[in-house]
Amino acid sequence: MAWVHDTGYAPAYDHTGYPVSVLLDGTETASSSARTASEVIGWRSACECGWRGMQFYPRSEWLSRTGSAPDGVDGWETGTAAFAEWERHLDRVLPELAVYDLAKQLADVEERLHAAVQAARFAGLSWLRLGAVAGTTQNLAVRRWGPTGQHLRAAAPEWPPGS
Ligand SMILES: [Zn+2]
Repeated sequence: MAWVHDTGYAPAYDHTGYPVSVLLDGTETASSSARTASEVIGWRSACECGWRGMQFYPRSEWLSRTGSAPDGVDGWETGTAAFAEWERHLDRVLPELAVYDLAKQLADVEERLHAAVQAARFAGLSWLRLGAVAGTTQNLAVRRWGPTGQHLRAAAPEWPPGS
């Protein structure tokens, strides 16, 4: 199966990862077929940009009837093995990706927090109580979430910028 870092950051889409099969003659194939099934000697983490993981996963240690990488080698479900190597590759080639992802998550949380504050205000909660619950003061709560406070909210990142 292929791995895509699908959070909306366009440069990450140039780095689709997958466990590549290594054949008896040393060549690689991304797809498993009946022809290659018996020739697969193991797997390696790979990226469409050309990167290859250092770790070789020999088929003699990882049983595979079809020749495709077993879950323990793929690692997508558990965030380990070939998948984890590919994620470290992404961190190295796109060090800004974590910033983008966290800024996006922060904007999402800010949006949900703002909606929760509005719901609590609608239910009759005072700014004093809201400020205390949110770990701030009444004044800062009003400035942050009051009718004129929307400019203090984090903006969701866009890629490409200004789109
Ligand atoms: Zn890559």
